[in-house]
Amino acid sequence: MKKDFTPALLDFGPVQIYLARHFGFCYGVENAIDIAFRTIDENPGKRIFLLSEMIHNPQVNADLVERGVQFLQDTYGNQVVPYETLTKDDVVIIPAFGTTLAIEEKLNAIGIATHKYNTTCPFVEKVWNRSEQIAKKNYTVVVHGKPTHEETRATFSHAAYHTPTVVVNDMKEAIALSKYITGEKNVTEFYKEFAGRFSEGFDAAKDLQRIGVVNQTTMLASDTQAIADFLKQVMIEQYNLTASTVEDHFSDTRDTLCYATNDNQTAVYGLLETKADLAIVVGGYNSSNTSHLVELCEEKLPTYFINSEEKIISSSLIWHFNFHTKEEITTENFLPAKTPVKILITSGASCPDALVEGVIEKLVSFFKSTASVEALTAAFL
Ligand code: SF4
Repeated sequence: MKKDFTPALLDFGPVQIYLARHFGFCYGVENAIDIAFRTIDENPGKRIFLLSEMIHNPQVNADLVERGVQFLQDTYGNQVVPYETLTKDDVVIIPAFGTTLAIEEKLNAIGIATHKYNTTCPFVEKVWNRSEQIAKKNYTVVVHGKPTHEETRATFSHAAYHTPTVVVNDMKEAIALSKYITGEKNVTEFYKEFAGRFSEGFDAAKDLQRIGVVNQTTMLASDTQAIADFLKQVMIEQYNLTASTVEDHFSDTRDTLCYATNDNQTAVYGLLETKADLAIVVGGYNSSNTSHLVELCEEKLPTYFINSEEKIISSSLIWHFNFHTKEEITTENFLPAKTPVKILITSGASCPDALVEGVIEKLVSFFKSTASVEALTAAFL
């Protein structure tokens, strides 16, 4: 059945909220949160650690910390609690992004069973499986992802176990990579240009002859598609390939985005068909999938990326995150002086619905609303 991506209108009279048809929590995040809280309940008196942030949501992580959970690493992979201080009696929860084989081995060597409290999302595992499948056919894996993101580091590690692997962050880097495929650049430069992005023993002269592209599940679908199409075309021209021989050098992986990322992104395209005054995107500031929703909205209208309703200071002032410069900034008079004000709202896959509801309540409180938030949002939140 064809999915419906038209937004829901919450008409409060002087302010009209258009809510994306799909937004917020995904299966993987709900599953991870369930497992994490169950782990706490099942292990009274034990030290419980999270490998890194459970998901990129400050409230969820704060709740876990309040229940006594400690983080082993920060979100950039810096060690906060040294592995040497862990014992086999400790519990370590693997986050929804998964983790690297090296970290798993390290924990297993201490005697900590990593499979027991593993919340790795099945959609992330699907990418690992896809990488393994193409590795078996002797393709090199090109991972489209943010090189420092936990999920990309985990996917890189799993792919690299089976086959040569390299990470590209964006189209600019895909173009840079293509120059080693075509010979436009000397392969010796590859090791400097892609330092820290390729697997051990990577042979740029040989390992870029057969490739397949997989992605971090939360990248922008259109970006991954463009990168895969581009690299495929490079291969076609380099090796004079036809439709029947293209697989000799390029594996068609189709995109490896998860359903939630896909639905949330497509719903934003649907949302943007409505003519509105501004958009508000709710989610953690280090959440990859949320920042992509912001990116889509920004192309069309003033967009404010906030992580809770507390960032809406008043009807004339909002604190919001500029993910390009990675800083929080303020904007005055973010609500236009007219009625009705039309506002588009969506949220990332790691954002609880309660936060979206809080944002709607705050916005509506600035107007003489003709309807109650509870009554109008009941069907959607
Ligand atoms: S966004 Fe997708 S891949 Fe990530 S946790 Fe959610 S369902 Fe899994």
